[in-house]
Amino acid sequence: MRHWGNGRDLPDWHRRFGLILAPPGFDVLVIGAGPAGSAAAITAVRAGLRVALIDKAAFPRDKLCGGGVTARAHGYACAVFGDLPAGLFHISRTVRFSNGTETLARLEQAPAIYMTMRAGFDAALRARAIEAGAVDYCGHRMAHCVPDAGRVVLADGRVLTAPVVIGADGVHSAVARALFGRAFDPATIGFALEAEVPGGPGPDTELDMTALPWGYGWVFPKTGGRTLGIGGVSVQDKDLRPRFHDWLRARGVDPATVKIKGHHLPSGASNAVPGRGAVLLAGDAAGLVDPITGEGIGWAILSGQLAAEAAAEALAAGAPQTALRRYQVRMRPIRAELVRARLLARLVYHPLLQPRLLRALASSDHFQRRYLALLAGEMDYADLGPRRLVSVVLRVLRGRGGGTRLDATGGGG
Ligand SMILES: Cc1cc2nc3c(=O)[nH]c(=O)nc-3n(C[C@H](O)[C@H](O)[C@H](O)COP(=O)(O)OP(=O)(O)OC[C@H]3O[C@@H](n4cnc5c(N)ncnc54)[C@H](O)[C@@H]3O)c2cc1C
Repeated sequence: MRHWGNGRDLPDWHRRFGLILAPPGFDVLVIGAGPAGSAAAITAVRAGLRVALIDKAAFPRDKLCGGGVTARAHGYACAVFGDLPAGLFHISRTVRFSNGTETLARLEQAPAIYMTMRAGFDAALRARAIEAGAVDYCGHRMAHCVPDAGRVVLADGRVLTAPVVIGADGVHSAVARALFGRAFDPATIGFALEAEVPGGPGPDTELDMTALPWGYGWVFPKTGGRTLGIGGVSVQDKDLRPRFHDWLRARGVDPATVKIKGHHLPSGASNAVPGRGAVLLAGDAAGLVDPITGEGIGWAILSGQLAAEAAAEALAAGAPQTALRRYQVRMRPIRAELVRARLLARLVYHPLLQPRLLRALASSDHFQRRYLALLAGEMDYADLGPRRLVSVVLRVLRGRGGGTRLDATGGGG
């Protein structure tokens, strides 16, 4: 197998005219140039593989997202792509927990969340993958794929082939559909609505714990505006849009003046097996969104990296079909975190327990900071440990946080 090294030795004619001349042979086809796909592409190139990075969009492109990059996700991004320009982020350190319009608690010097606009963030990641040597097929939709045969047909009719395919093509993944007949289970898929409100970032990040029965609402401050949204798991609420209109009005935003968009959120259940043979699924295509926080960027980057490492190892062993097995081993810690998150989500969003959680949030600085440390990715669910998890549950059941007696009435839920 001939490798192109780190991509810098790709012939110049190939970079400039690769789309016009017959496409070269590749080792890996990466479908989707979001965080998962770009992470997979740059990792595979650095492993010495010839990589095609395919996306239907020309970048920069919009992606409906709160753009809250947790400390953990920011760490993964810098580890995979190198340091990112500080200008991509507005760092938010003041967080307000609310119950509708009532403020439960306001924390200053909270764990940092790096708020970003996905258009700029994703374009920066993709650019790093292309600079490293991935061959750029962005702006070209994959019309059809036969993943097990390692064959992808672009909308303009060109056919690309490779022994390994990485499907990082988002929640509606065509690669997952080609493998399993559907990209997600409609019974468990989440959904979210969002609107961008231009202007100043506003003072606080707001987390409205009761915006929805099985989810939450958020106001994320950004450079140049705010992102407001509601969403969560198992949201099959026909009244979601009018509910969001009311929620916006309660925050001083006239819904008629903003563009409201909705998108599925694969936070209900991940694909139990993230691929087949030499075909791997990463990021949203594998259903890797946290059911409590709605966070998906961090796992997208990490799973993209792990998929590429598994691909490189399988190719080096001359056994591309073993890529999935190698990927699954690497994915165990992510799977375990999502299982813990799913268990905890049943408590956090349980209608009988939620009022108690609200009271705990309102009354205990310790509990607020621990909860935020989880949301901001400073702490893993594993860090809770089985004993601590039981103690958290008991505290929530008793309606108090870090040992502080209750004096707030809370409510909602
Ligand atoms: C409303 C909302 C708010 C969210 N807020 C947050 C948040 O604050 N923080 C957080 O961490 N996560 C958040 N998420 C989740 C996060 O957006 C995703 O988990 C993340 O984008 C997953 O990255 P990805 O690379 O797997 O997929 P994507 O970012 O969706 O990228 C998939 C790419 O595949 C391309 N593609 C799709 N089909 C084809 C095709 N046929 N041919 C070629 N290309 C194709 C698309 O153009 C796209 O660029 C939110 C999600 C939603 C819906």
